[in-house]
Amino acid sequence: MSAKIIDGKAVAREIQERLAEEVVQLKNERGITPGLAVVLVGNDPASRVYVNNKKKMCEKLGIYSEEHLLDESTSQDTLLALIRDLNSNPRIHGILVQLPLPGHLDEKAVLEAVSPDKDVDGFHPMNVGRLMVGEPGFVPCTPAGIMELIKHTGVGLKGKRAVVIGRSNIVGKPVALLLLAEHATVTICHSRTVDLPGVAREADVLVVAVGKPKLVNKEFIKPGAVVIDVGVNRVQTGLVGDVDFDSASEVAGYITPVPGGVGPMTIIMLMRNTIEAARRKGK
Ligand code: NAP
Repeated sequence: MSAKIIDGKAVAREIQERLAEEVVQLKNERGITPGLAVVLVGNDPASRVYVNNKKKMCEKLGIYSEEHLLDESTSQDTLLALIRDLNSNPRIHGILVQLPLPGHLDEKAVLEAVSPDKDVDGFHPMNVGRLMVGEPGFVPCTPAGIMELIKHTGVGLKGKRAVVIGRSNIVGKPVALLLLAEHATVTICHSRTVDLPGVAREADVLVVAVGKPKLVNKEFIKPGAVVIDVGVNRVQTGLVGDVDFDSASEVAGYITPVPGGVGPMTIIMLMRNTIEAARRKGK
């Protein structure tokens, strides 16, 4: 194996320490305690775990947090009324609606109801548009975390070839825009891409966000490339990424493991966005 491992847990810990200091500073200098509200509808066990992890991380950082656990049968009107309340609640700077929502709820309408200034998930069309035109807004957490991991390698992006496999609105498209903003030459691949291994092999930086276990192996990788594996797939042996780690590590220069790569970054970027929302609100 030749690739250096990008340790997402360690990078997340470093950022966590910085954020804890920022929270203290905000409190001491401006009397502001950042506040995050997490809304969960229904009893999905995985979502429960995510919400709990967010609460614990808020506690560690000194961020005020509220959990709103709503019954599976909650109506659209009730949910929208809660979001309106949170939009006007001065203690709350960030609102996160845990997805997926139960099928009877209109996810798009719910996400659009969140004030763009409190949209710490970066899913409101206003923030999507801001990212597109390069204005400051909230960037979705997983793509923001991916960029931090790339930065951590010290490999510059200017003029480099970046290939993103996956074009979802929550990972593929936003990370492609962030890479572009850093002056990489970006290609986005998807399920209809012809000669995926050939296109991927052009990449100095390869981001894989597909959801197919071990789709990418050393045949897809340019020697020395930075490989970021966003995939989280549950298989019989446990969790695996979209990249065949052992095979890819023979060729890549840097690679993220699964678990312990992109995963730990997502929650810490949510905290960063919440602190940023509090800082902007207080201005
Ligand atoms: P998604 O919405 O299902 O999108 C998957 C993308 O992969 C689509 O654009 C699809 O192409 C493309 N694709 C599917 N099969 C392909 C193939 N054989 N070759 C090339 N492209 C293919 O998934 P997502 O929400 O972006 O998530 C992707 C993965 O990241 C999942 O494993 C998810 O669990 C993980 N994830 C992890 C985190 C984290 O914090 N670690 C956060 C979010 C997501 P089409 O558009 O043509 O269908």
